[in-house]
Amino acid sequence: MPIDATQPYDDNNIFAKILRGEIPSAKVYEDEWAYAFEDINPQAAIHTLVIPKGRYVSWDDFSQHASAEEIAGFIRAVGEVARAKGLVEPGYRLLANIGGHGHQEVPHLHVHVFGGHPLGPMLL
Ligand code: ADP
Repeated sequence: MPIDATQPYDDNNIFAKILRGEIPSAKVYEDEWAYAFEDINPQAAIHTLVIPKGRYVSWDDFSQHASAEEIAGFIRAVGEVARAKGLVEPGYRLLANIGGHGHQEVPHLHVHVFGGHPLGPMLL
């Protein structure tokens, strides 16, 4: 079920548990600001998720409340993930689902990184 992007942060959400190491994930990248891991249900040959280490429900929450340092660190980390996966030269796609109409299901901000083959036009 899609979430309400304006809800308070829930420390029991599945990505909070992944960040705390309470449930396993296939780690791709980590730095001070972000953690990246493989999506459990990949929608492309490469499908990696990047999450900020801070407690942010959605893009709206993050863009409103994160510090400039956190925002810069997270955006740089997304780029590093694409580099680590060898996606820079062939190209790739970033996606963030936000709230109900965006069909966001996990209430911790995440950016999807898709690639590994031509993705075609964006389909809704
Ligand atoms: P949607 O499911 O509509 O794409 P989201 O943007 O919230 O909504 O995406 C959540 C993503 O998290 C999905 O791609 C799902 O496969 C992935 N996911 C859920 N649980 C796990 C998990 N334990 N480990 C890795 N990825 C997960």
